[in-house]
Amino acid sequence: QRVEDKLFYNRYLVDSGRAHIKVRPHTTPSSRLLSMLKACPARCYELNDKGHVEVTVDGCMECGTCRVICAESGDIEWSYPRGGFGVLFKFG
Ligand code: SF4
Repeated sequence: QRVEDKLFYNRYLVDSGRAHIKVRPHTTPSSRLLSMLKACPARCYELNDKGHVEVTVDGCMECGTCRVICAESGDIEWSYPRGGFGVLFKFG
């Protein structure tokens, strides 16, 4: 499932214009990052053709799994959307 498929569905669940999860640039993904390919319930994490893990926050349910697994180790940067819980609010 690609970004295009996710956009419509999510547009009004989250503020999709404001990326709040970023994957730290890497040459080889850590095992933590790789685990997100399966651990993210919304399948936001994907492997690109260079073998890097990418995140697409459209579809993110704010479950916090990737934050727990990857934020402390620095594999990703996480910040909450304005308002605290993006799923519950529509911005703008
Ligand atoms: Fe996926 Fe949950 Fe992380 Fe969102 S918060 S990207 S749904 S693991």
